[in-house]
Amino acid sequence: MTDGLARRGILAAGAAAALASPASAQGQGALAAFLAALAARRIEIIDLTQTLHPGTPVIQLPPPLANTEPFRMSEISRYDPRGPAWYWNNFSCGEHTGTHFDAPIHWITGRDLPDGATDTLPPARMIAPCCVIDCSAQAAADERFVFEPQHIAEWEARHGRIPAGSWVLMRTDWSKRTDPAAFLNMKADGPHVPGPSAAAVRLLVERDVNGWGVEAVGTDHGQAFAFEPPFPAHALM
Ligand code: MN
Repeated sequence: MTDGLARRGILAAGAAAALASPASAQGQGALAAFLAALAARRIEIIDLTQTLHPGTPVIQLPPPLANTEPFRMSEISRYDPRGPAWYWNNFSCGEHTGTHFDAPIHWITGRDLPDGATDTLPPARMIAPCCVIDCSAQAAADERFVFEPQHIAEWEARHGRIPAGSWVLMRTDWSKRTDPAAFLNMKADGPHVPGPSAAAVRLLVERDVNGWGVEAVGTDHGQAFAFEPPFPAHALM
């Protein structure tokens, strides 16, 4: 890890992010420009989230590891005697359901970092410039596509160096898989899902990125249990 201040964040399943490096003058300027562009409707807001339902796929860990409960929702009232003028529900789900944020304390390597929980992380950390690296063609050709430093180098050759403090999002079009089984893509040898190599994660850490986002159920490659270190996006980011 190149900075001792705070661990990066990671986003999964349809990551949505926009802009400003933490508390810097440059960040303030970017935020002002962003707000002005929003007010002038020069920025189109695209909702990348997906509506939660009982069939929303959640990550499946092998025994004896504990798993997430499925999303559940029950009606409290719907303009009926239980509540004549209002509609509302109870719901329950795991923290890592649908579009979600992996807080720095999610992984053991981040457990002692200050302000590492979602409710204590400075909100400014959530808003930062965003680099989208399009790997959709590679992911379509190879479900086990490994995102490598070479793919970062190719992106940087076209767009310039990834600015420190940016979010980096790997586009795979994985979120277009509406069938839960195809989304999780579990095979006999584990999930076949694209993700980064340890070397690619190390390079992103070297770039001092704010965080890393993907479209699949987790931020690591489906076979990352066998990587060195295991689950590098979780362990190093
Ligand atoms: Mn997660």
